[in-house]
Amino acid sequence: MLAPAHRPTVAYIDLDALAANLSESRKFIGEEIPCMAVVKADAYGHGAVPCALRLEAEGVDWFGVALPEEGVELREAGIRRPILCLGSFWPGQEQMLIDFDLTPVVYDRGGAERLARAADQAGITVQVHVKVDTGMGRAGVDHAAAAEFALFLKSVGKLKITGLLTHFSAADDAREDSFTRLQIERFDSACLAFRAAGHDPEWLDLANSPGAIRHPAGRGNLVRLGGALYGLLDDILPAGASGPKLTPVMSLRSRIAHIRRVQTGTTLGYARTFRTERESLIALVPIGYADGYARGLSNLASAIIRNTLVPVVGRISMDWTLTDVTDVGEACVDDEVILIGSDGKHAIVASDLARELGTIGYEITCGISKRIPRTYLGSAGSQV
Ligand SMILES: *Cc1c(COP(=O)(O)O)cnc(C)c1O
Repeated sequence: MLAPAHRPTVAYIDLDALAANLSESRKFIGEEIPCMAVVKADAYGHGAVPCALRLEAEGVDWFGVALPEEGVELREAGIRRPILCLGSFWPGQEQMLIDFDLTPVVYDRGGAERLARAADQAGITVQVHVKVDTGMGRAGVDHAAAAEFALFLKSVGKLKITGLLTHFSAADDAREDSFTRLQIERFDSACLAFRAAGHDPEWLDLANSPGAIRHPAGRGNLVRLGGALYGLLDDILPAGASGPKLTPVMSLRSRIAHIRRVQTGTTLGYARTFRTERESLIALVPIGYADGYARGLSNLASAIIRNTLVPVVGRISMDWTLTDVTDVGEACVDDEVILIGSDGKHAIVASDLARELGTIGYEITCGISKRIPRTYLGSAGSQV
């Protein structure tokens, strides 16, 4: 069946680039270290199911999601590898975790008790990973209370602790490397405390992408990669740091819908924030802030048209963006407009847009809205 007709604004997701990023990351980190692909938030906006199918075919060992319902989506698509729910789970989701064979993360007594009750009712033992907070100051049992929590889990029963994890707060920042080392030490102590209490966790994982790339001592026996897989290089490594060769997986492309010739002194868009200083050719591009092309990029971002960088002019509105194509030789309706991506000569990466907005490339790709269809390039994973 043909895809329904839609405006020519598309996010292309290059699954071959995704697979190459996995392979380059593994080469850099060490092929012997198992790898969890983090595909939460719809794979950072790239589409969790197509990305996970390809990554499973490439041999990743684990998947990481934030929410149990994200894990269910993967199972329903046929994903068979273990899935860790990194975030948490909410009252009422215990049975779902069991039914869909999702591995929950526990770090509080209430959650552990609810899960143990569900396991008891099902007549089974549930495998869980325990999250230890070693300095993120977010979710996790405080590292100083690890021994106590380990004993509590023994008393609850019905839960088998098959993994321990922690999360680095600043593994991308060389100025914070001593803090990252402290987090590693605290994690090692928590592991000893769990062993002393009689648990035998198989999986010990600490590292997100920057941790895995920059901190060999923090690799444990499993690394959790998100940003590296999607090629969000500038957001995970300090400039100039050595790391794997990564390629952005998402590109965002549209086409010129209309071109208007306007006189000098014409104001463009809401609030008249741009005034032409010459007779200009203005191209309308069918993308706006409802698509995740943030209004904050007004008069700041660039796009690539016919091998030329052109400025976004005037306010970005909900559905439209204006670009000044006066300097593009022979710009035409239907010309391709690259908003994120490369034409071989120029490149715009998610973090370039992020910089203008005071955020990171992760938020840009996560924010490309569902109104923009994703088109997948490269070979798919195992279709089931
Ligand atoms: C999101 C997340 C990751 C992945 O982080 P990246 O920086 O994208 O590699 C790893 N671990 C946990 C617990 C996460 O929530």
